[in-house]
Amino acid sequence: MSKPSYSIAVLPGDGIGREVMAAALEVLQALAPRIGRRFDTVTHPAGAQHYLDSGVALPEATLEACRAADAILFGAMGLPDVRQADGTEIIPQLDIRFALDLYAGVRPIRSFAGLPGPLADPRAAQVDLVLVRESTEGMFHARGRGRIEGHGADAAALDTMKITQRGTARICDFALRLARQRRAQGRPGRVTNVDKANVFTSMAFWRAVFDERAAAFPDVPVEHAYVDAMALNLVMKPWAYDVLVTENMFGDILSDLIAALAGGMGMAPSADIGERWALFQPAHGTAPDIVGRGLANPSAMLLSTAMMLDWLAERDGDAALADGARAIESALASAFAGGEVRPREFGGPSGTADIVRAVLGRL
Ligand code: ATP
Repeated sequence: MSKPSYSIAVLPGDGIGREVMAAALEVLQALAPRIGRRFDTVTHPAGAQHYLDSGVALPEATLEACRAADAILFGAMGLPDVRQADGTEIIPQLDIRFALDLYAGVRPIRSFAGLPGPLADPRAAQVDLVLVRESTEGMFHARGRGRIEGHGADAAALDTMKITQRGTARICDFALRLARQRRAQGRPGRVTNVDKANVFTSMAFWRAVFDERAAAFPDVPVEHAYVDAMALNLVMKPWAYDVLVTENMFGDILSDLIAALAGGMGMAPSADIGERWALFQPAHGTAPDIVGRGLANPSAMLLSTAMMLDWLAERDGDAALADGARAIESALASAFAGGEVRPREFGGPSGTADIVRAVLGRL
């Protein structure tokens, strides 16, 4: 059921997370009256600076607010040299992922006219793919559980990869459903399963579950690829792929690779989606090297905001929100295509404010 107003939990975090979030909120509030909806955005503390100030990186009250909201918008978190007592990084986004069971990491990448990526082949202008990363188990199951056995020359460190039937089936179903939707939108609608089934028991198990689930989607064409070959092919012919589905750590690595295809981290949006909740954030980090200078490219954050609108549109059957998502995407695309703005990652002069102004002017 569509409704007049949506509650959004806003977690800007640290570094350029705050800068790109301010940009996204400005665009969202400008969009609201045009699509006849309200967005009640409430900002909540979390991140490395909050850890320095309070000793807590992710307050329970922030997590509760995330659970109570319609959707979560997230900037970026972490600062160099801010570490927990055990030396590990401040990564509240991982804690939220596990706490809300956000099992599907969705990383879409596309080329934009006017913004040439790193590949010379003209077919690179047609790149339009989505990586679906399992986000709650796999190699990341080992986080906080690794152990070191033995001493001296006999010492060995062990991290365990965990692949479950349930966890694999639900991420494969997610990717297969997504492919079906993309086919309905005129895209190929094909799933490439990425694994290492030739070496690991866990990965052969993953592939068997994928095949079992794919059999339930006879209309969706599927294929298999080994992750090492995939790293090669994503550079050689990324235009040949539509939906990729893979294990947590493979997805972690390949999602940075595909961000490069779009021209840099500032162009890579993402969503972390579960059965009940969903969080939308740019794929990039806090970029301490450019913070406070107005240089951050807000495109990834704006495209993540469009993904949030699409997710809410589907959840609530609210077509006005999907119109809003298209409006953000086409405003950005036309600003790039017309040459009005060119982010610094592409050697251009445009900072955060220039890109926001160009988008607002087109909404
Ligand atoms: P994390 O570990 O959290 O991913 P990181 O420091 O490894 O953090 P980023 O913060 O994403 O990675 O930064 C990687 C590089 O990309 C930096 O040079 C940074 O300036 C650049 N970068 C990241 N995001 C943007 C953006 N939105 N606009 C411009 N440059 C960006």
